[in-house]
Amino acid sequence: MSTENPTPEQSRPAGVPAWSATVLGYPRIGPRRETKKALEALWSGSADVATTERALADVRARTLRRLNDLGLHAHDASIPSAFSAYDHVLDAAISIGAVPPRFADVVGADGRVDLAGLSTIARGRGADAPLEMTKWFDTNYHYLVPEIAPGTRFRLADDRGVREFSEALADGFLTRPVLVGPVTFLLLSKPADGSPEGFAPIDRLTDLLPAYAELLAAYAAAGAEWVQLDEPALVSDSATAGVSDLHALVRSAYDALTAAPGRPRLLVAAPYGDLGDVLEPLAATAVDAIAIDLVRGAVPASAPDGLAGKTLVAGVVDGHNVWRADLAAALRRLQQLAPLTGTVVASTSTSLLHVPHDVAEETGLDERLRGWLAFADQKVGEVVLLGEALRDPDTRADAIAAGSAARADRLAAPGVVRGDVRERLAALRPQDLRRSDYATRRAAQESALGLPLLPTTTIGSFPQTGEIRSARAARAAGRLSQEQYEEFLRAEIDRVVALQEEIGLDVLVHGEPERNDMVQYFAENLDGFAVTRHGWVQSYGSRCVRPPILWGDVTRPAPITVPWSTHAASRTSRPVKGMLTGPVTILAWSFVRDDQPLGDTARQVALALRDEVADLEAAGIGVVQVDEPALRELLPLRRADQPAYLDWSVAAFRLATAGAADATQIHTHLCYSEFGEVIDAIDGLDADVTSIEAARSRMEVLPDIARAGFARGIGPGVHDIHSPRVPAREEITELLRLAVASVPARQVWVNPDCGLKTRGYAETVPALRNLVAAAAEVRAELAAEPVAEPVPAS
Ligand code: GLN
Ligand code: ZN
Repeated sequence: MSTENPTPEQSRPAGVPAWSATVLGYPRIGPRRETKKALEALWSGSADVATTERALADVRARTLRRLNDLGLHAHDASIPSAFSAYDHVLDAAISIGAVPPRFADVVGADGRVDLAGLSTIARGRGADAPLEMTKWFDTNYHYLVPEIAPGTRFRLADDRGVREFSEALADGFLTRPVLVGPVTFLLLSKPADGSPEGFAPIDRLTDLLPAYAELLAAYAAAGAEWVQLDEPALVSDSATAGVSDLHALVRSAYDALTAAPGRPRLLVAAPYGDLGDVLEPLAATAVDAIAIDLVRGAVPASAPDGLAGKTLVAGVVDGHNVWRADLAAALRRLQQLAPLTGTVVASTSTSLLHVPHDVAEETGLDERLRGWLAFADQKVGEVVLLGEALRDPDTRADAIAAGSAARADRLAAPGVVRGDVRERLAALRPQDLRRSDYATRRAAQESALGLPLLPTTTIGSFPQTGEIRSARAARAAGRLSQEQYEEFLRAEIDRVVALQEEIGLDVLVHGEPERNDMVQYFAENLDGFAVTRHGWVQSYGSRCVRPPILWGDVTRPAPITVPWSTHAASRTSRPVKGMLTGPVTILAWSFVRDDQPLGDTARQVALALRDEVADLEAAGIGVVQVDEPALRELLPLRRADQPAYLDWSVAAFRLATAGAADATQIHTHLCYSEFGEVIDAIDGLDADVTSIEAARSRMEVLPDIARAGFARGIGPGVHDIHSPRVPAREEITELLRLAVASVPARQVWVNPDCGLKTRGYAETVPALRNLVAAAAEVRAELAAEPVAEPVPAS
């Protein structure tokens, strides 16, 4: 592959890139998770900072070569410099000096933060809590939330990004540095503790811009021709909710940055959704290029003023799904843009950080399925091809047709559309989504289960011990037979059931030892899914996940969890809760087919789960929990799209659960407590009991829940399982008193915030003992002085 510029530098007007194709970003974890391994070696003390820096530099150097081999050019800034050791939002915070005061000591005299310091901010240290972590737009990537105070002093503090640019340049690559743009940076930040009421980080935009200008000048001084500023917040209604005049804000930010002396050319990228009319203020500024997401967003109907002189970087290749693009259709969209603007560049819709490296590694996948897939490296090939075809439609016609043919092959392949599945779905009636009224169910469940006031339970998983992991590895390597492995799991379940009885929990679980990743587990046991071997993507920091690929119509060839749950039930006379993962969460944590609406796919998964619920019930399991921790994650970024999403996601949950008899108690579990925008949806799930995260926020959410008139069971978590700390009995008692002060006691359940699989037994056992003792104490208090139950204010 040539590394020459395709167009001679002199023939281009100033501000027009030489490239015809680019990607907005690339995986940072390394093809064999080298970044993860290097960081974890640093954290465990087996590597020092210098060794770790070398390992990360090696990942970067190999990325440059790879992208060049795949067809991006070495000398024209089409290769992004988008590495991050841990998280790109944290990197931005560190580079502009926004390190919280509790970590001031990790900042060197020169303003730099080394990898050890960066890790400390990301992971916390003793009493110094790490930066909060939260989901990045509607993806399963998590970023660290910067803390901004009215007095945070912004400046060019750490030049790690500039050094990485120079390192690449010395290696022969003129890259395009990528950083989080100033508007998004502040909109994603939160006010530091102690900030005055009403303060919002975005109020500091004018103070922040000079630091960005300084940073941009440093890149230019190091030789950068282009810098990419990512502004995904501009496509999200919730991120911009507090801004009164978004257009004016964008205009002022980019007027200021483009007026700064000594700046490189600027590409402003708006991935993850439709930029809509925010294209107008951006086009009106002097930025040189704008990247829009044409997978999620639409081709603009007309060109706003100022766009004609700019380059449009058109995200026509999906950056966060794994299917080969319909290249002919993508090329047509690129051609539609030509009348709107001076120059069109083919690109991915988002950074490729959300997809695995290379399909060629997946030699275990079905050959035909493999032919439908494009991971990061294949997507680079697609944009390169589209860029060439855009310049000269005749050159690559065969390759363009091949891309579209792969898609056509997928849509026609057996299993993608199954008559039996479609017929079952078409035959569903409205009543299949409805259970009896709650009062009837409640009465039936009370007599069937005979539970005390404030019943105690857990969220499902028990600690995944070293023995469990070894047994799983031994099974995978063939050292344990399937029978031996299942024998091991049954013994583990026996132990966990006996422990729960001894601790005195009311509703028991089997402990989920058979699942490592719950979505992967269900995917492995349902038809229509495939799982990969090396298909890792970054979830946060060094943590990677391997999302399954949902490629076809979904069916359940056999019961999945029934043998484990019934085995647990055979060991106790107490109720055992069956454990399923809900349809929305299965979709959110998989790569999903893109040939039909998500809601249709969700209904198929729901139908499979409905059969599982029926089989659990028939086997005598009277309580079934269907986890939906990702319900909020898929919430569309544009408010206008949210009602339709909530409709189909709620309907899918109800389809999965509404076949249950009145006496069967349906639980659900959500991994967060920010209920705001989804509270009606949670009510709409119509679960008999809903457990949520609440320990850290000290039950903050309960008054809102009561106010919303939520009348069914609610289990606000009383044990923060994200920390190894064992909550004292008094602490839990206090939380439960708070709970029964805002919600009628007969609705309250007592449980941890989430599953216990990441904890050890040393913490789990005392924590659960305290939980049971606290429930008993508050139960006794309630019996002693039957106070008037709080009446929800409506
Ligand atoms: N039942 C699952 C567990 O206990 C729930 C996990 C989750 O909410 N993410 O692990
Ligand atoms: Zn959870």
